[in-house]
Amino acid sequence: MKTATSCALATILLFLAGATGIPAAEESYEKQRQELVDEIRLDVRRTSREIGRAQLDDRVMDVMARVPRHEFVPADQRRYAYMNRPLAIGYGQTISQPYIVAIMTDLLELEKGDRVLEVGTGSGYQAAVLAEMKTDVYTMEIIPELGREVAERLDRLGYKEITTRIGDGYFGWEEHAPFDGIVVTAAAAHIPPPLVRQLKPGGRMVIPVGGPFRVQQLTMVEKSATGEVTTRQLLPVAFVPLTGDR
Ligand code: SAM
Repeated sequence: MKTATSCALATILLFLAGATGIPAAEESYEKQRQELVDEIRLDVRRTSREIGRAQLDDRVMDVMARVPRHEFVPADQRRYAYMNRPLAIGYGQTISQPYIVAIMTDLLELEKGDRVLEVGTGSGYQAAVLAEMKTDVYTMEIIPELGREVAERLDRLGYKEITTRIGDGYFGWEEHAPFDGIVVTAAAAHIPPPLVRQLKPGGRMVIPVGGPFRVQQLTMVEKSATGEVTTRQLLPVAFVPLTGDR
């Protein structure tokens, strides 16, 4: 009898999964991602004055609804993958809050084919979001173990348009400069001059600026077509520090 009930249950589950063609777990992740996108929408509205926009580009929201964040967190964090908060990824580091990833991506105002530098690869999630915006992504991570793990993960997930490197992102990536956009996902005490130099005229950089354990300011750096640089503080944020010997 027990076996018959289990069989019947299995048949119903198989039928349900088969009806949509999507495995049940994937369907649940998709639903959670959709709920997360709704939360991001609300957070954006709440902070519209600071970030200067009441809603994000539809392309950014579509990408947030598509990228499988559960693939970028350790197994013991998977059940929290679609909560709108940072999560531990080991080595004292975090995967950023999805709302922050969404606004940083949006603020870069990227176009298809743009070249983007990310400093602070971490889990690779932000890099994947940028790549899904149809840009060429160069991303640097200072912790060798994380850098190796993420290269393997991005390769397994098929993100061929992301180039990874282990090193100190304070100095940028001269070989692939200039960049249309630069995103720094660790807090810097000041805006690194090499990154400003590696920004294309007309390019934008988004970077948290401030000391560790203090309120940092998410800062927009813009380089005009004629090379003038302006900065604007947008929003108080909390990031892990940009490290390195210099
Ligand atoms: N963007 C990441 C993601 O999507 O998971 C989150 C990054 S985590 C908040 C910050 C990362 O920056 C950490 O992995 C840290 O090791 C890295 N980092 C800190 N200082 C760095 C530096 N000077 N150069 C490159 N990476 C650095």
